[in-house]
Amino acid sequence: MNAVDKKIASEAQGPYETYRDALESKRLTFQHCRACGNDWLPPREDCPRCWSPDWEWREASGEATVVSWVVYHTAFDNRFAGRLPYNVALVDLDEGPRMITNLVNLPDGGDVIGRRAELVFEEDHGRMLPRFRLKDGTST
Ligand code: ZN
Repeated sequence: MNAVDKKIASEAQGPYETYRDALESKRLTFQHCRACGNDWLPPREDCPRCWSPDWEWREASGEATVVSWVVYHTAFDNRFAGRLPYNVALVDLDEGPRMITNLVNLPDGGDVIGRRAELVFEEDHGRMLPRFRLKDGTST
């Protein structure tokens, strides 16, 4: 744990706020359970596998594999109307956690399940968001 992490951890805030603070400094972190070894996202107070509160923060390498994705052509929330069409993707980080994100270079009509992707940060509405860029011609 570096000095910034210790400072953040010492403040009275929950895991989600700590996670967001890391994202603002372009670091994607996840929680690792010291009791059972589980790694997870999104942030929460206890391990979702064994309910242990004994966990630590780890930093993701940014390497991931696409599990699934969907393209929205209808805005179910008016705040996203100006973005149509947009995608929402599910990726597995190499470290284990599965997360919901967006792909920044999704090709029209292509199947990207199993494609390798790398983390990129984009500012959106004043917040730093973790998104993923498909790598060229790779699959697992
Ligand atoms: Zn656990």
